[in-house]
Amino acid sequence: MVKKVLKFGGTSVGTTERIQIVAKIIQKERSLGNKIIAIVSAMAGKTNDLIKLSEEITNEFNKRELDVLLSSGEQVTSALLSGALIKLNIKAKSWLNWQIPILTDGDHANSRIITMHVEKINKYLDDGGVSIIPGFQGISKFGDVTTIGRGGSDATAVAVAKIFNADSCEIYTDVDGVFSTDPNKIPVAKKIDSISYDEMLELSSLGAKVMQSSAVQTAMMYDIPLEVRSTFTERKGTKIINKEKIDYTKSVTGVAYSKNDAKITIVGVEDRPGVAANIFEPLSKAQINVDMVIQNISSDQKTTDITFTVKRDDVSKTKQILKDNSKINYKEIIKNDRVAKVSIVGAGMVTTPGVTYKMFRALSDVGINILAISTSEIKLSVIIQENNILQAIKKLHTTFDLD
Ligand code: ADP
Ligand code: ASP
Ligand code: MG
Repeated sequence: MVKKVLKFGGTSVGTTERIQIVAKIIQKERSLGNKIIAIVSAMAGKTNDLIKLSEEITNEFNKRELDVLLSSGEQVTSALLSGALIKLNIKAKSWLNWQIPILTDGDHANSRIITMHVEKINKYLDDGGVSIIPGFQGISKFGDVTTIGRGGSDATAVAVAKIFNADSCEIYTDVDGVFSTDPNKIPVAKKIDSISYDEMLELSSLGAKVMQSSAVQTAMMYDIPLEVRSTFTERKGTKIINKEKIDYTKSVTGVAYSKNDAKITIVGVEDRPGVAANIFEPLSKAQINVDMVIQNISSDQKTTDITFTVKRDDVSKTKQILKDNSKINYKEIIKNDRVAKVSIVGAGMVTTPGVTYKMFRALSDVGINILAISTSEIKLSVIIQENNILQAIKKLHTTFDLD
């Protein structure tokens, strides 16, 4: 008998029919004698609908109340799944975040799970019951309901696996596993049998939403093996594991993309020491994350252009901060928020020379202009015009033998 954490994402619990499919998966696990803790997301689209409701009242909706509102989606699916199991004569019970409780630290909408009480739930598992826990939420030390960031049910699952010392943590979703790129965008994408934490972390941070990046980070930190698999097929999924256990035959494992970025160019800033610091210090104080930075060679030795990328949501704030910054002089600020980031990720890149050039050549062969570049040991990202994104993913996917 093993203790398993099974997490079911929004599409998997998107309708009552689907919730009954989930109940059947749990029934099968119980018939094998396994102890099951199920983590559920809200029904697909529900969290977005709730956000829209709050925006009908105000765009500045109170943060505490927003967390109370958003956490309700997972409450609904917890109860529905529990009811579906009980209908199958399986002992089951749902708990709300404050009943467990799941204790969190940090700001509303962006909290982090620190611990959970395990006694009641462990006792229930020992008595043959299935425990259902709502994903994405917790309760602060002040007793307020909190949420832990979009896609956060993955993080709840990993935290539960760790805190309850589970034997496995399975992420059930609407695709068969982690693919070389989004299979819903590029149908020739291939399923990956096993992938390292590092690569998965890069892929999810760079836009592959199949796993939430902070969940992968926690799994990596505590060496909790994950398996991503489909709720709707019996096919083998993807194992996310320690890189020592993976055999690398390919330099590139996957291609990710995101449309969250925007590019800002400050034209004609002074070319002297301290200017870059003067530009970026107030941005960092305002919690604006700057991703890529490029400084052009100064042609007159006096002025230069500095280009950098920030999250698209931060563009207006960034422009305002630059305008209010009395420490810098410049000619103009140009923003482009119709850009996208395409990245290749692979632990095998470290040992394969020429990956960088191959990527740039591939993009230039299809006439795609690179606007900014950033690299790390196992990833290479470029900013391009948003309308080129699909062509870029396809081309890179083929170039690196991933089709
Ligand atoms: P869930 O609701 O189960 O949490 P998500 O919608 O968050 O599911 O994540 C699954 C989706 O992630 C897939 O439907 C797919 O479109 C998308 N996706 C993006 N990149 C990848 C990838 N490399 N492999 C698999 N799925 C991906
Ligand atoms: N329901 C939350 C969201 O949509 C959490 C999750 O689904 O993982 O972000
Ligand atoms: Mg998800």
